[in-house]
Amino acid sequence: MTEYVFLDLRVTRVARLSPTMLRVTLGGDRVDDFASGGRDQRFKLFLPHPGQDAPVVPVDAGEDWFGAWRALSPANRAVMRTYTARDQRPGELDVDFALHGESGPASRWALAAQAGDPVTVLAPTSRDNSAIDFRPPPETKRVLLAGDETALPAIGGILAALPAGTAADVWIEVPRADDRQDLASAADVTLTWAVRGEGATLAESVRAADVTVPGYAWIAGESGAVKALRRHLVQTLGVDRRAVKFTGYWRRGASEEDLLAEVVAGGTPHLEE
Ligand SMILES: Cc1cc2nc3c(=O)[nH]c(=O)nc-3n(C[C@H](O)[C@H](O)[C@H](O)COP(=O)(O)OP(=O)(O)OC[C@H]3O[C@@H](n4cnc5c(N)ncnc54)[C@H](O)[C@@H]3O)c2cc1C
Repeated sequence: MTEYVFLDLRVTRVARLSPTMLRVTLGGDRVDDFASGGRDQRFKLFLPHPGQDAPVVPVDAGEDWFGAWRALSPANRAVMRTYTARDQRPGELDVDFALHGESGPASRWALAAQAGDPVTVLAPTSRDNSAIDFRPPPETKRVLLAGDETALPAIGGILAALPAGTAADVWIEVPRADDRQDLASAADVTLTWAVRGEGATLAESVRAADVTVPGYAWIAGESGAVKALRRHLVQTLGVDRRAVKFTGYWRRGASEEDLLAEVVAGGTPHLEE
């Protein structure tokens, strides 16, 4: 069996979680074939272009789904974006969209999403899959999590998975005070919200804190902010660089196509050292 398969799904429900966060719940005959391993489970989302009835993805692509998708005409092939499986129940998969207006096809699509709309996802076929990055070493007693609103779904998934007895120091930057969410966890969580509309930023908020050095740190969000924060953790706080998992989830001024073009040209995705 291949590690990832295309699944054609449909929107079953849309719910506004906060002013800038929209939950799109997906269903369909095969939705339970999506084997989410939880935490920061990422996946590729494929959206139709305006005027298309459904996303165009390769048929029977197998392991080389990316090559097969790239071989299709850019004007016709589905728009591909990366999202997080926020939660999964029998028959349902939740995806939370940080809305940033009409400037990107995914944000634009989410703003207009209605029950019945078709989407395709590239789904993991095993819960233990390579699209989960949050992997603290066993016996880790304290983790640090930091991210902006695009990482809020992943942080929510990670906190839901953390066991009791783990300490989690968490910083999340959101656009507005009412974008804050309740995040359930069995862990011992200390959560700080940085509200951008009130002048706060993620990096400044962590810098201003009296941070206890964690055994493992996970950072995601806008690339520039992620890099700055990682530097602070490693160079100023002395966190072992091997214990910091950091991912640029988006980059200001660049679409996901732009970032992908860099990868294809031999650069590194989302972040450059
Ligand atoms: C592993 C991973 C998991 C992710 N999970 C999620 C998730 O669960 N929920 C989520 O909302 N996002 C998530 N993202 C981020 C999301 O993929 C990007 O924000 C993506 O660029 C959105 O696509 P778009 O079509 O809306 O915009 P694009 O067409 O890619 O970009 C258009 C313009 O909008 C800007 N832009 C992109 N995102 C934002 C933003 N959030 N705020 C302001 N400007 C922006 C770009 O810099 C560009 O100038 C994830 C990314 C990765 C790599």
